[in-house]
Amino acid sequence: MRLSLRRFDLQLRHTFTIARGSSTIDPVVVVSLEHDGIVGYGEAAPSMRYGENINSVTSFLTTLDFASFHDPFHLESILRFVDAAAPGNCSAKTAVDIALHDWIGKKLGLPLYKYWGLDKNRTPVTSFTIGIDTPEKLAQKIEEAEEYPLLKIKLGSDHDREIMKTIRGLTKKPLRVDANEGWKTREIAVERIKWLEQEGVEFIEQPMPASDLDGTAWVREHVNLPLIADENSIRLHDVPKLQQAFDGINIKLMKCTGLYEAMKMIHTAHACGMKIMVGCMIETSVGITAAAHLSPLIDYADLDGNVLITNDPFDGVKIVNGKLILPDRPGIGAVEK
Ligand code: MG
Repeated sequence: MRLSLRRFDLQLRHTFTIARGSSTIDPVVVVSLEHDGIVGYGEAAPSMRYGENINSVTSFLTTLDFASFHDPFHLESILRFVDAAAPGNCSAKTAVDIALHDWIGKKLGLPLYKYWGLDKNRTPVTSFTIGIDTPEKLAQKIEEAEEYPLLKIKLGSDHDREIMKTIRGLTKKPLRVDANEGWKTREIAVERIKWLEQEGVEFIEQPMPASDLDGTAWVREHVNLPLIADENSIRLHDVPKLQQAFDGINIKLMKCTGLYEAMKMIHTAHACGMKIMVGCMIETSVGITAAAHLSPLIDYADLDGNVLITNDPFDGVKIVNGKLILPDRPGIGAVEK
């Protein structure tokens, strides 16, 4: 098995601002795993929130030595080896996981959703994300999002009311709100959520800092909207303890080390009676399409990272009237443009 790396600097359509910062270019690493004449693609989209950057991804992946592995079907052993190589480095680990799944699907001649026994007609509608912005830019973004029936609004700044007023002046679409840990006290969180209950909002993602799980549990007792964990929901072992504070979890491949663990998180969260959302970072169609193959199993999709950029080097999952349409090609089904 041979792994090669390519860096891509993804150019955002608009400067993307959330509660903790802004970006205009997001670098990612696309990996190619070659074995037996077949190439599987994977991707790492590192986030500083989780202690990674492009250099940490590159150094983690280049130090992995796959010399003792001769068969990508030994997914469990390979991923165990990769996870044990160093703590953290989740998006780098995800790149290997996606590439192995892509390789296996290509070898078997099966799209991943079929390999898992899923019905591609059951993919959900994805939300389209509107970052924090000025009223003029928000108006432009709402217009550009015309084809998306469901919007995810980033809040958690001092301008929450102004942003919602602007958006509600322009659209009556159902909204989801992501505060990205931006409401720093339980009283502020309750006050904002009670106000948002009147604004046609479906649920709230990560209202409070991940470090304040008890505070989030208190908030949940005082509001009616469901709360979904994102920054609190990293890996499989996080899921059971989140029941006390959240109604659901947002799984991202780049946080949880990939598809293999994401599948376990889905089943664990279901067993805990929690809703499942699958989200993303700013990613190419390799990462987004991989995640979309899980989507027939979930309640909410937020898989728009590839449509927020202008230079996606890959083709994969499509969005038609908001619904995710999986490619019928083997593996992940992402192909280079
Ligand atoms: Mg989020």
